Amino acid sequence: MSTFTERTYRPKTHREAMAELCLTLPRTPGCHPWCTLHCQIDETTTFCMGPDVLTPVTPNGYVGLSSCAQERGGQPMIDLGDGLDHVTVEQAEEYARAILRQVARARGQEVSA
Ligand SMILES: [Zn+2]
Repeated sequence: MSTFTERTYRPKTHREAMAELCLTLPRTPGCHPWCTLHCQIDETTTFCMGPDVLTPVTPNGYVGLSSCAQERGGQPMIDLGDGLDHVTVEQAEEYARAILRQVARARGQEVSA
C-alpha cells in the first residue's frame, strides 16, 4: 500500500470513456466502415464509434465520430470534443470551411471567390 504511483492527468477521450462504461459488441453488418468500436448503451440502443482524431485545440483533446442506429437514422455525427456538441457531417464541414476562410483572411491569403 505504500507504493506511490505518479499519474499525469490525461482526459479520457469519449471513445475511451464509452469503452469503459458500455458493453462493447462485435461489429454488425450494419456498421459504418469506420466503426472500430461498436457499443451498447442499453437494451435497444447501440452505436458505432470511429477512431478519435486527437487535437490539442478542443477541450477534450479530440474530435470524435459516432453514429447511433436508433437516432437520426444512423447518420454519422461529429463530436467536436467540447463535451457538448455533436454536429452532422455537413455542419462540421461548413464549420471547418468557415474557420479555414477566416484563417486565410487572417493570414492575408484570402482568395476572392
Ligand atoms: Zn458499429
